[in-house]
Amino acid sequence: MVIGKHRPSRIVVDQTAIYQNIANEKARLTDKTELFMVVKANAYGHGLLQVAATALRAGATGFCVAILDEALALREAGFNQPILVLGITEPQYAALLAVNHISATVGSLTWLKTAQGFLENEHVTTPLAVHLGLDTGMGRIGFQTSTQLAAAVAYLQTAEQFTFEGIFTHFSKADSADTEYFEQQLKKWRVFMAVVPDRPKYVHVSNTATSLWHDACNGNLIRFGVGGYGLNPSGVELEPPFVLHPAMRLESRAVFVKALKAGQSVSYGATYTAQEDEWVATVPIGYADGYRRQLQGFHVLVDGQYCEIIGRICMDQLMIRLPHEYPVGTLVTLVGEDHGQTISLQEIADYCGTIHYEIACGFSERLPRFYQ
Ligand code: PLP
Repeated sequence: MVIGKHRPSRIVVDQTAIYQNIANEKARLTDKTELFMVVKANAYGHGLLQVAATALRAGATGFCVAILDEALALREAGFNQPILVLGITEPQYAALLAVNHISATVGSLTWLKTAQGFLENEHVTTPLAVHLGLDTGMGRIGFQTSTQLAAAVAYLQTAEQFTFEGIFTHFSKADSADTEYFEQQLKKWRVFMAVVPDRPKYVHVSNTATSLWHDACNGNLIRFGVGGYGLNPSGVELEPPFVLHPAMRLESRAVFVKALKAGQSVSYGATYTAQEDEWVATVPIGYADGYRRQLQGFHVLVDGQYCEIIGRICMDQLMIRLPHEYPVGTLVTLVGEDHGQTISLQEIADYCGTIHYEIACGFSERLPRFYQ
């Protein structure tokens, strides 16, 4: 991917905010509870390596990623802390996992048997660390019955190619005021755990929401994601126990400013026509950058004032209505604060009918990331 270094559109990441969010969460945990920072999807759009470094400074002791390549990128950059791949890695990559000391999520005995074959064929001597994933109601990956789990645990006791390093589940409604489904999942988790006589090193159930609102069941490790980036996993439904500081800012500058006459139209489809004479600026960012087309009619900040996005958002450019003439080069804030006014990822997500997670990790790698 080509990074747009010679254009004013950029993401600015506040590392102090990330540090603070993790440190605040760490302060709520018991001494025996570790925090692995979830840095999948380019650290939710904030930049994998920089966030990983900040997280360690703030007290994280390991990382969670979604795919093997993200783990390998951390290893290549010199991070030697524990890394857990949360998704299923195809068993033919078992050797690559093992030799790089990357832990795998396992959801079936078949996976273990197939991976064992690959490890044997490739004469791998380093044991592969595995975390057994339990499906207590998320319905995505993981063992579904205690019988299946017990068989895998028994298998691990004899298969020397593996280290049984962890066991975990994932809650699907820990971010909701209605706790009924959460309680059901917790009950299933306890039923599962009854067939695990010897606890592995890591027992973990908590993403951000679980740790913020159900911390009694944290186990000895939490998988802290969105909260580290300063975003409330519940959106606006639940109040977090401490202030979360959003770390992402998105800004650009006006590259073209013009006077539009009443009756003139803007952008593809001519969906916007000026009712009166007005000033319009063109901002070099569009849906190819992850600034979604649905955001037509939403706003940006110029000089502390909300300015409407007029006409269709193009692949690489969008137009805004200015309150009066501003010079080319004027700062445009798309996410973040400007003169006391703010646009949050949550507001953008609400406008698009989605969640802030999707907006944050949707900003493309064409946008350069700057760190402060
Ligand atoms: N654990 C698992 C299994 C996940 O899939 C995720 C993210 O999707 C997380 C933890 C982190 O979740 P959050 O960003 O809500 O803290």
